[in-house]
Amino acid sequence: MKDLKIITRHLNTANSADIDVYLADGGYQALKKALSMTPEEVIAEVKRSKLVGRGGAAFPTGLKWELTRKEKANPKYIVCNASEGEPGTFKDRLILKNDPHMVLEGFIIAAYAVGTSQGFIHAREVYTQEIELFQKAIDQATERGFLGQNIMGSNFSLDIQFYKSAGAYICGEETALFESLEGHRGIPATRPPYPVQVGLMDKPTTVNNVETLCNIPAIINNGADWFASIGHPDYPGTKLFCLSGNVKKPGVFELPLGTNLKDLLEAGGGVDGKFKAVLPGGISSSLLTETDISLDFKTLAKAGTMLGSGAVIVINSDTSMVNVASNVAHFFDEEGCGKCSICREGTRRAAEILSRFSRGQGNRNELEWLLELHEVMKDTASCGLGQVALNVAASAIRNFKGEFLAQVRKEEGVWLR
Ligand code: NAD
Repeated sequence: MKDLKIITRHLNTANSADIDVYLADGGYQALKKALSMTPEEVIAEVKRSKLVGRGGAAFPTGLKWELTRKEKANPKYIVCNASEGEPGTFKDRLILKNDPHMVLEGFIIAAYAVGTSQGFIHAREVYTQEIELFQKAIDQATERGFLGQNIMGSNFSLDIQFYKSAGAYICGEETALFESLEGHRGIPATRPPYPVQVGLMDKPTTVNNVETLCNIPAIINNGADWFASIGHPDYPGTKLFCLSGNVKKPGVFELPLGTNLKDLLEAGGGVDGKFKAVLPGGISSSLLTETDISLDFKTLAKAGTMLGSGAVIVINSDTSMVNVASNVAHFFDEEGCGKCSICREGTRRAAEILSRFSRGQGNRNELEWLLELHEVMKDTASCGLGQVALNVAASAIRNFKGEFLAQVRKEEGVWLR
């Protein structure tokens, strides 16, 4: 099971992005099969597989399709979110570049299930080569009748448009992404209503991550039972883990969801130096100080952190946690949209305070203040960015308080606030 590859299985094949190479390995057979089923049957199969979204939030994919399909409003839309922006996440670009037809096949099946004839893909402009290859894949698929009018002789038609975003982190958030697609500034909207009801151009919309879509052809070809038997019983299938930081062999590793962190570290050649902590879900997650833990959504939530998109960042004992917290706080200060005051002011103040700690000018009282701000932002920021912005800072203060105290300004008491 450990060696099972679903999404990266073509990675070592020459010209894997070419349609003929994809077809030679059974490519577009799942689409043919899906078109012989009703959309409801496709949805039921995906629901039975227990596939959950791989963008970070683990929402059940089949349910999302069903909710969109059931909405009365028309037209409906489907969006492939390829705007991965979480620092430490670099999995979607690997698939877009090496297996664009697998993404496309999953995308076309999803569109059929949801009941739309218009799809969009939203990707970061910096993915220049990936965008070029994906656009070529769209052209090839259209030429061969897998996209466009009356796909494979059926009544189903689909047009897919590629959209290059300027790369703002916030535009990966689905409602900000809609704004970006519509040509506006990327500012998140309050949910509910969720995009399945009111999404792109106010119409019912399904948003699926690149990796999520890549699982669809395999589920349709091999059946829901096969998929549900892989890995974790609650979250079956594999996951692309992006391993980075202080490891000897960083990279993308496809392993069953629920793999023990120790095994992932081993796959990455081990920790470079002495292990200190890990961020299992990129800089949106909280620090973990143990390695013997299952990498799945439930276990990590119980441990006070999250798996997110699987950006596992390892930190060794040579690294200053004060500097880590400060760097992360500056990232969120920079990337916030500025709409809600708690996030706009909170991320700015946190970045300022942590900068002072980095310079040995910290004020001891502000550590408690940061922990309080973290709780307030978690509860009141209007989108995920603000809610998680101080996860790293708060967990660093809790686990490594001594490092912060060592950075307190010597003549404490004369600090002006
Ligand atoms: P969320 O849990 O609010 O929603 C997840 C998905 O499920 C969304 O598409 C949402 O519309 C849908 N959904 C949730 N509840 C629903 C309901 N009741 N009815 C219908 N649909 C519903 O999470 P989110 O705010 O969209 O995303 C947060 C996640 O994004 C975090 O876990 C984080 O790890 C991840 N993230 C990923 C990246 C990346 O680069 N991949 C970057 C930043 C954050």
